[in-house]
Amino acid sequence: MTLGKETGGFSLKSVSGVDWNDWKWQFRNRIRSMRQLAAIQQRPVASLAPCRPVLRTYPIAITPYYMSLMDPADENDPLRRQCFPDPRELTFSLGGVPDPLAEESNMPVPGLIHRYPDRCLAIVTGTCAVNCRHCNRKRKWRAAQPGGERERLQAMVDHVARTPALREVIVSGGDPLLISEPLLDWFLGALRAIPHVEILRIGSRAPVTLPMRITPELCAMLKRHRPLWFNTQFNHPREITEESTRACEMLLEAGIPIGNQSVLLKGVNDNYDSMRELLCGLVRISIRPYYLFQCDPVQGTDHFRVEIPTGMEIMERLRQNISGLCLPRYVLDCPGGSGKIQL
Ligand code: SF4
Repeated sequence: MTLGKETGGFSLKSVSGVDWNDWKWQFRNRIRSMRQLAAIQQRPVASLAPCRPVLRTYPIAITPYYMSLMDPADENDPLRRQCFPDPRELTFSLGGVPDPLAEESNMPVPGLIHRYPDRCLAIVTGTCAVNCRHCNRKRKWRAAQPGGERERLQAMVDHVARTPALREVIVSGGDPLLISEPLLDWFLGALRAIPHVEILRIGSRAPVTLPMRITPELCAMLKRHRPLWFNTQFNHPREITEESTRACEMLLEAGIPIGNQSVLLKGVNDNYDSMRELLCGLVRISIRPYYLFQCDPVQGTDHFRVEIPTGMEIMERLRQNISGLCLPRYVLDCPGGSGKIQL
């Protein structure tokens, strides 16, 4: 794969192994523009004109690593569908809204979603390695901050500290592994020091889209804050690679259990064979399939929505053919933020 010099890109052949395995290099060299996208597909930029307004609303970001896993010329490639802009993101035919789970109205302090009595979710950054087109927080991409500032995170810690009912904090984003390591260390430590906080959880797609981010130093830091659970999001069996497997192994060796929360996505994993291969593959690398989410009615994701009966049919076939260990719970996050129901 080549991104010409004139695009500010690179040729995969010319990248050293050291650079390729350096997560900061991967992050710096993310595909961020129409010109780069056109170069990858070896098409004139003008042919991507229908995508221009999409990128103005929903920017693109794809790591070279994730790009290397797909066929960028194949419109039906299930990995490409997750990260390439699509003009359908601007057709709101199914009536989606930017924030169907009413997260913004359940924030006692900026960035801290407190919907359930005993747990809350901290959005520590709006930045991700790859902007997944099906993201339920894609409304935040335009305003994404590179990292959580100490004062903002301190306000979250203060809220948790003065709310004794909170026993679990989910550290999420964006991708929390993209804020500076010392800041994340401090934040986890400050939460861990609160006597009523029993469990910390990290939600990150880095093992899938930027597996180089899982370094020995990061694992050593996370290990200090156990009990810490890690949830990630593999959506397709082709995302289970040597690199992502190694990243997960490192977390597991640090004593951090990993669960997976897939999203049911049209054209990506809405069929029995892909889902079976994904779930069995996850268990093979010691990841517990936890949830299969029905795609939320988020504005800009209509084309990913799968009918619930189709999802239930897939689940029923899975139930008949694979072990219980491989079966996630198929859930719908109720619009308005009133919680999850199992389908
Ligand atoms: S990694 Fe998660 S938060 Fe980031 S864009 Fe993808 S789905 Fe959204």
